Amino acid sequence: MTDGPTYGFDTLQIHAGARPDPATGARQTPIYQTTAYVFRDAEHAAALFNLQEVGYIYSRLTNPTVAVLQERIATLEGGVGAVCCSSGHAAQIMALFPLMAPGRNIVVSTRLYGGTVTQFSQTIKRFGWSAKFVDFDDLDAVRKAIDEDTRALFCESIANPGGYVTDLPAIAAVADDAGLPLIVDNTSATPYLCRPIEHGATLVVHSTTKYLTGNGTVTGGAIVDSGRFDWSASDKFPSLSAPEPAYHGLKFHETFGPLAYTFHGIAIGLRDLGMTMNPQAAHYTLMGIETLSLRMERHVENAMKIAEWLENDPRVDYVTYAGLKSSPYNGRVARICPKGAGALFTFAVKGGYDACVKLVNALEIFSHVANLGDTRSLIIHSASTTHRQLSPEQQRAAGAAPEVVRLSIGIEDVNDLIADLDQALAKATA
Ligand SMILES: *Cc1c(COP(=O)(O)O)cnc(C)c1O
Repeated sequence: MTDGPTYGFDTLQIHAGARPDPATGARQTPIYQTTAYVFRDAEHAAALFNLQEVGYIYSRLTNPTVAVLQERIATLEGGVGAVCCSSGHAAQIMALFPLMAPGRNIVVSTRLYGGTVTQFSQTIKRFGWSAKFVDFDDLDAVRKAIDEDTRALFCESIANPGGYVTDLPAIAAVADDAGLPLIVDNTSATPYLCRPIEHGATLVVHSTTKYLTGNGTVTGGAIVDSGRFDWSASDKFPSLSAPEPAYHGLKFHETFGPLAYTFHGIAIGLRDLGMTMNPQAAHYTLMGIETLSLRMERHVENAMKIAEWLENDPRVDYVTYAGLKSSPYNGRVARICPKGAGALFTFAVKGGYDACVKLVNALEIFSHVANLGDTRSLIIHSASTTHRQLSPEQQRAAGAAPEVVRLSIGIEDVNDLIADLDQALAKATA
C-alpha cells in the first residue's frame, strides 16, 4: 500500500509499511526468523556494506518484519523514518547516542517515568553525559538550564505517572530558539492521542512494550525522526554532520538528508550498540498496533468514568487526571491531545502510604504490576516500587508521592472496574 495523506489513522494502523509477501503472497506480515540474508553477488555485498544500497545484511541491523513495524510507527507519528530496538530504555539511549559525547548534557522534565529518571540521573553519567532536571512548566527555567554543552531537550507528552500534559509547542519553541532537538517520549499518549511532531518535536521515542503492543507480551522500543532538524546548522552534532571514520568519511546528513538520523540509528546505533528488536517481538507489536485506535478510545472512556467516580468518593483525597475539569492541565488536553488524556493517572487514598498498600492488596481485577498500557487494568504504588530509588522530593516532583497509587485503566467493563475499586477502598480505609 502506498501511504497517501488521504488515508485515515484506522487504515494506516493496519496497512502502513506492509504489503503482501513478495515470495508467497502471505497477507499477514511473515515473521522473518533469519539471522542473515544471501547477497546477490560480491558487488551487491560491497554496495550494502558501503551504504550505497539499502538492503538486508544481518538481523542485528535490519530485518523485514521489524522494517514493517518501523515504517508503520513512523507513518502513524508523521515521521520520515523509525528505528525499533529491544526496549523503551534502549530507545532512549539510542536516541541520545548520535547527539551526545562526554561532557554534554540534556535538559529534561522532572515529570518522567521512574526508570527514565534513574537512567538519566545515574546511568548515563558512566558515558560522561548528564541530565538537568527542570520543571517544564517554567519556560524560563528551561531556557536558563540550556548551556553550550546541551544537546537536546527531553520530556513526555502525557507524563507518567501523574496526569500531566506537557505544553509541547511552547517547549518546542524554546528548543528551536536554542538550535536544539526536542525529544518526546510518546509512550503514554500513543500517536492516536498525540502526535508530538505536529507540535514541533524533532524526535519521538516509544516503549512499544506498552499501548502499541497493548497486551503485555513483549518489550520493545522505537525512535521516530521528524526529518526536519538541520544537523549541519551548527557544529554541535558531528556524528551526523562531520565525516564518519567507520564509513570512509561519509557524512550522514549530507548523504542521506532528512533520513540521516534514521540511517545513523541503524548503521551505527544498532550495528555497534546491538539493542536490536527481534522479529517475534515485532510480530506481536504489529498485531497489537492494528487495533490501537479502538483500544485507546476505550482506555480513555473508561479512565474518564473511573476518574470522575473516584473524584466524588469521600475515601479519596484527590485525583490527578488531566481529563478532569478540575485538573490544571485540562486546558492543554484540548490543544495537545484532544481525543483524550490517556488512561494513566494517580489518586491519593485517605490514610496515606499504609492505605495504598492495603488497597493494592485488596483489588481483584486490577493487577499489581510494574507495567502500564495493557488491555487489563493495572495498579502500582509507585513510591514503594518503581519510584523507590528516588528521594521523596523526586517522588513528589514525578507525581509519585507516597500517598498516591497509579492506575493504568484497561479495556474491561467499566462497571466491574468501579466495583472492584469500591470494595478495595472499603477494605483500605476501614
Ligand atoms: C515503560 C516506559 C519506558 C521504558 O520502556 P521499557 O520498554 O520498559 O524499557 C520509558 N518511558 C515510559 C513513559 C514508559 O512507560
